[in-house]
Amino acid sequence: MNRQSIFVVVVAALASIVSSSDVCADEPASSAFDVDRGGVVMTFDDRNFDDWVNAIPLFDRFGVNATFFINGKIDEQAVKAIRQLKSHGHAIGSHSVHHLKAVEYCQDHSPEVFLRNEIRPQLEAFQAAEVTPTSFAYPMSRNDAVTDETLLTVFRHLRTGKNVGDGQRVCDVDAFFVPASRIHQHGCLIAKGIDYAPTRPDRTFEQIDAALTRAAENNEILVFYAHRICATKPDGGHFVTPEALTQIFSKAEELKLPFYTFDQLP
Ligand SMILES: [Zn+2]
Repeated sequence: MNRQSIFVVVVAALASIVSSSDVCADEPASSAFDVDRGGVVMTFDDRNFDDWVNAIPLFDRFGVNATFFINGKIDEQAVKAIRQLKSHGHAIGSHSVHHLKAVEYCQDHSPEVFLRNEIRPQLEAFQAAEVTPTSFAYPMSRNDAVTDETLLTVFRHLRTGKNVGDGQRVCDVDAFFVPASRIHQHGCLIAKGIDYAPTRPDRTFEQIDAALTRAAENNEILVFYAHRICATKPDGGHFVTPEALTQIFSKAEELKLPFYTFDQLP
């Protein structure tokens, strides 16, 4: 290679570095999944559209993108909320048509009937709203090996939950923590409930902070779930307060833990 062609190659290489770093700078920090770094996945269930849309400024303030698992009809109200949530970077997941217990349903009928009656009609309805859910949250956290195998033919990830024993520290329950580098091997993720935080022993801020700290130190993914978002106790439904979310988002920010949606998980 002569001197002139070396010069051309070097200039071309520099140009490609500059243009690729320009592209990176334009993307929000949370857009790409980092396999070497822990993160938090915030999820909210059911049909609490007004609460969720009202919380958009809070999510925006911390640059948090969450996943909202919707059950039931994808009607006009659902589509309106989906559009607003999506426009702020949030993801939409499936929570089934009738919010039934998947394990019992598959035993009483069959996995095929579960897919036919509880999953596929909703996926078709989501298509009309230009949403293709990549994830599913189990109603009442009822899953087993059969339901997981069945639903992983349709979704990339599933979400279930798990209770924590009396006196147990959340940060000691390995089931809640998956190394970021291995998240693609974990179809079903086990999430920790945070409704009513910090007023229950398994979801005090001390518990939550310790769990977030473990995720940051070990480069693990931690999934939280809640339902409504209300400042004071609503007439019905499980809820988390904006104050509790603010505490969680602030702690994650302090630990430099990124937030991911289920759609961003490999
Ligand atoms: Zn639910």
